[in-house]
Amino acid sequence: MRFPRPSHSELLELLSITDSSELDALFKRAYEVKKQYIGTKVWFRGIIELSNICSKDCYYCGIRSSNTNVKRYTVSHAEVIKEARWCYEQGYGSIVLQSGERSNKAWIDQITDLIYAIKDVSDGKLGITISFGEQSKEVYKQWLDAGAHRYLLRVETSNPELYKKLHPQNHSFESRVQSLGYLKEVGYQVGTGVMMGLPGQTLADLANDVLFFYDIDVDMIGMGPFIPHKDTPFGHLVDSFDETTALQLGLKMIAVCRIFLRDINIASTTALQALKSDGRELGLLAGANIIMPNVTDTKFREGYQLYEGKPNLNENASETMQSLEDKITAMGETVAYGEWGDSAHFFKRTNQEKTL
Ligand code: SAH
Repeated sequence: MRFPRPSHSELLELLSITDSSELDALFKRAYEVKKQYIGTKVWFRGIIELSNICSKDCYYCGIRSSNTNVKRYTVSHAEVIKEARWCYEQGYGSIVLQSGERSNKAWIDQITDLIYAIKDVSDGKLGITISFGEQSKEVYKQWLDAGAHRYLLRVETSNPELYKKLHPQNHSFESRVQSLGYLKEVGYQVGTGVMMGLPGQTLADLANDVLFFYDIDVDMIGMGPFIPHKDTPFGHLVDSFDETTALQLGLKMIAVCRIFLRDINIASTTALQALKSDGRELGLLAGANIIMPNVTDTKFREGYQLYEGKPNLNENASETMQSLEDKITAMGETVAYGEWGDSAHFFKRTNQEKTL
């Protein structure tokens, strides 16, 4: 039995809240739902941003292919393994591998080799989430067979008209949605998400985004506020950008998704931290349960600026982790080490028993 589908009007009403005591009540309600369905554990997934080489040209993104101000990089196989081993030794249950989108065979095989190698160095114990954009069903299967078991592919917006305004003509909303279908068919725990506060986006669009998540029956959500980047077609928005509103909107979407989708995993993303130093902790209090500390070697981080002011540019991985854990403990939550922290919803949806 699925949880009831929310109505567009109730979603819109909650997303429209701006009064601070009503906001507090919304976040508290979401936190109660999280406690009931997930508990107060937080799972860390160390994210490795493998490469900023990208064949796509999304108008909002700092690593779009037309941005010639970015120095392109790819982390070597040996370095990725080193970072993954570090995560394993720290007790992280999982890692996330992400990069710009590429679909040539050499790249696909390189990823396959990496997934096998990471499973190898961790005795099969490190859970692997991947986020490599739109690929064929066969490629998704190849990576699943190699050992990845969760996939993040944001739909970016569920409004096809808005999608068209944010992307060049050769980028297709329909194929993005189709990819989400492939991921599910192949057997991944599937995560999607949107950006909030995009130019031309309304609260009614965001309410529809939540309904989209419900209708495709997602297992995980990773979403964050849109933050303009100077070297993109939306660069003119940098000066008028309001961080407080963006953060509030980001937190409201987390809360609303938690209240209505209940048992899914929701990430408190780095974009929230870019807006306020404790933005990710606020995300946990609004209903999120996953944090993805950046474990990419600091020398590469300048190259993965999807938006202005992406944090932790210079901080090294162990410092990031210690300060984060201290803050989480102070909030009364526990970092769950050595656990995959899979989506409870996935097991319910597929009638499977939870393993690790
Ligand atoms: N190539 C992968 C990973 C994309 S980068 C894929 O296609 O899934 C990860 C996410 O960063 C994107 O899905 C997008 O939602 C987000 N992002 C890009 N530019 C952004 C911006 N200016 N502000 C906030 N988030 C942004």
